[in-house]
Amino acid sequence: MKVAVIGMGGVGAAAAWHLARAGHQVECIEQFELDHELGGSYGGSRIYRHVYPDGLYTRLMEAAWPMWLELEKVSGRDLMLRCGGIFFGPGDHPDMATAAAALRDSGVPFETLGRDEAARRVPALRLHPEEIAIHQRDAGLLRASACVVAMAGLARAAGARLRERTRLLEIEARPTGVRLHLDPGGSLDLDAAVLAPGPWARGFLPSAAAGAIQVTRQRYHHFLPAPGREGEFGTDQLPVWIDMDSWFYGFPVHDEVPGAKVAEHLGGIPVDPDHVDRGPDEGLRERARAYATGRFPGLTGEVSYEKTCLYEKTPDEDFILDLLPGLPGVSVVAGTSGHGFKFVPLLGALAARLALGEDPKADLRRFRLGRFKSKLSS
Ligand SMILES: Cc1cc2nc3c(=O)[nH]c(=O)nc-3n(C[C@H](O)[C@H](O)[C@H](O)COP(=O)(O)OP(=O)(O)OC[C@H]3O[C@@H](n4cnc5c(N)ncnc54)[C@H](O)[C@@H]3O)c2cc1C
Repeated sequence: MKVAVIGMGGVGAAAAWHLARAGHQVECIEQFELDHELGGSYGGSRIYRHVYPDGLYTRLMEAAWPMWLELEKVSGRDLMLRCGGIFFGPGDHPDMATAAAALRDSGVPFETLGRDEAARRVPALRLHPEEIAIHQRDAGLLRASACVVAMAGLARAAGARLRERTRLLEIEARPTGVRLHLDPGGSLDLDAAVLAPGPWARGFLPSAAAGAIQVTRQRYHHFLPAPGREGEFGTDQLPVWIDMDSWFYGFPVHDEVPGAKVAEHLGGIPVDPDHVDRGPDEGLRERARAYATGRFPGLTGEVSYEKTCLYEKTPDEDFILDLLPGLPGVSVVAGTSGHGFKFVPLLGALAARLALGEDPKADLRRFRLGRFKSKLSS
């Protein structure tokens, strides 16, 4: 079949790889360039973890994990850093109990640590007296940009064609298949299409879903360790971490960007993805600094790197993965809500199967477009 993939972030690159190696004729459409800085998938680090306060995602990670291993093997690239993960919060926090139960149910090995044991294992981290931690060895970071480039490279090696600086304007249903209207490039007729437009998805979604998604500007900062304490922040001593109460999260010092990355999952500022102020924000920087130096006394508070990127959030933070109504053979992935990267090989493959009319062999009920109700009808 002739299939288009629109959007070459993590999801689109994965869908293109899946389709091309299955022998389909694949056209990849990207409005900017491969590995551009403006969407959701750019950069050197995304956490992968099985620890989730929702068992659905623990199970999805079980399905995505072998795909990452395969990608690393066939691409021959070093895409992951297996530094483990530590996830902490108050001992009576409901998310800590739910996350532990989900790990148990899925048979994922983990340990629960008290404050003293956590300090012994992760010297950089200070837990409060009422806090405990879940330590999971099978967690770490994905080198996001390298993963996207690797999947797109494998898709192209299997015959996919990539059109960069080409924007999808509109999708038209045809008696068989669909017609894409592109700028530049005119129109393109296809049997099926996978839409993976990330923060730009709203223009292609039914109005109730488009109205429910919020695109937010997220800023993250890297802080330098104090002289003599650099070792505490290396990949052999500091795992990836998440504060399950405040939803600050971060990474050890790794690869070429100096300092330890600290980011905040909550608190994004709503934006139009085509008009984003990507400059520094003194208020957010101060908030991150206060958290980082309080939680990690070995950090200086000196910012060595900072960046803006975009989330596109659904109200329930569940993804969208469905067929688009009125457009036979067009599937869409959107609303990955700031936690989708660890699942992109799986999301791309599932979206490809939906577009081809195949059984996705997965329970996608929580990801349906039909869960969004228009304000007028409610
Ligand atoms: C700062 C930050 C930290 C994150 N941390 C984590 C983490 O630790 N762990 C984790 O699992 N996830 C994390 N995420 C989330 C994860 O990165 C995203 O869920 C994922 O990268 C989204 O991928 P995507 O392919 O859906 O979107 P994108 O990567 O944004 O790709 C969409 C692509 O579509 C293109 N496009 C859009 N519209 C059109 C059009 N009309 N025509 C042609 N092309 C178009 C865009 O240019 C873009 O390249 C984080 C996200 C951010 C921003």
